[in-house]
Amino acid sequence: MTLSIAIVGAGPSGFYAAEALIKRDLDCRIDLLESLPTPFGLIRFGVAPDHEKTKRVARSYEKTALDESVQYFGNVEVGRDIDLDKLRELYDAVILAVGAPLDRALEVPGGDLKGVVGSAEFVGWYNGHPDFLELEPDLDCAAVAIIGNGNVALDVARVLAKTPAEMASTDLPEYAAKAIHSSPIADVYMFGRRGPNEAKWTNVELREMGRLDDAVPILDPAVLPEAVAGEMSARDRRLKEKNLATLRSFGDVATAGKSKRIHFEFFARPVEVLGTERVEALRLERTRVEDGRAIGSNQFFEVPCGLVVASIGYRARPVPGAPFDERRGIIANRRGRVAQGLYAVGWAMRGPTGVIGTNKPDADLVAGHIEATPPGLAGRCQVGLDM
Ligand code: NAP
Repeated sequence: MTLSIAIVGAGPSGFYAAEALIKRDLDCRIDLLESLPTPFGLIRFGVAPDHEKTKRVARSYEKTALDESVQYFGNVEVGRDIDLDKLRELYDAVILAVGAPLDRALEVPGGDLKGVVGSAEFVGWYNGHPDFLELEPDLDCAAVAIIGNGNVALDVARVLAKTPAEMASTDLPEYAAKAIHSSPIADVYMFGRRGPNEAKWTNVELREMGRLDDAVPILDPAVLPEAVAGEMSARDRRLKEKNLATLRSFGDVATAGKSKRIHFEFFARPVEVLGTERVEALRLERTRVEDGRAIGSNQFFEVPCGLVVASIGYRARPVPGAPFDERRGIIANRRGRVAQGLYAVGWAMRGPTGVIGTNKPDADLVAGHIEATPPGLAGRCQVGLDM
């Protein structure tokens, strides 16, 4: 019997789910449903425009899309155009590959002032995402504060700091290029509430910050620890050691002739966004790290800025009819199982962690669940986790 499978979401996790099913040689028909007209999700709208090599992974998704068992349906939103219940009646299995497109809220006073944006919105804006074309962030300011020490914070800082020549070969939309390159931004601050040891960057991305044509990384070498401390895997230790070496090497980057500064500020947690009609400054508290946690010191400082980009992680958007884990911001699931015949993969399943390829094992796990389900047992039943 040919299994009918709907995959909701045509970003990386959706394509890896389709690929995993095809690789298992299951007799199946796969419909990929996407709320936007175009496929590729995070690759198109999340990966920074100047990371063209990363975007090339979409070529393998094109191959999957051309497989004879796969059909693509754009502009179909589950919950708006079709109910999840209906979908579960129509298909033997439904895989939710809806990603984590929403910003985690910056829960400090003033966090809703004009000029405070989340990185999902800001990155969506400079990547031409149809939902964020109207964001029109006001870049007519001398300084920007980015909150968070992850790779998305680095992406935002880099895109704001690169010159028109550095972005010329990218597909940065014209409206974003115009706004960014005519802006007087000279200082980009990146604030980590913990220290360099706890930062979540990968090393290739961090190294890029020392090689920008018109921007120089600035940090206080006194905050850099002599060595990486704490329990961790050998792999994590190597990465953190590399990052420390890279941060140290930033002291050698020539400042002469560069008009922009990217400030790496550690042990600083945001406590308030200041301003009347819009953002005027960010107030932060100095911290120290104890047992891996940021502890406030009761010492505060302010940094004037006209834009705050909260790059503090993402959440999935609940899918009406599917259980949602509010605390983790994901579709409630056990190793990809949501209910009988209903599954989740990728960031919707495990939260926004890892790189693009990290979505492959989840996809394989769920393809394995589907393969192991006896024919006739697939399909709709009560949503719940007791299986
Ligand atoms: P992330 O790596 O989880 O980093 C989030 C940052 O926000 C952390 O530094 C975190 O600090 C901080 N944070 C969270 N809540 C905060 C709060 N309330 N106040 C202050 N700081 C707060 O997330 P991301 O940068 O959004 O990246 C998401 C995933 O995409 C990651 O796996 C990333 O590696 C991946 N990605 C990869 C690339 C690439 O490979 N080139 C590019 C972009 C994204 P704590 O650590 O203290 O919680």
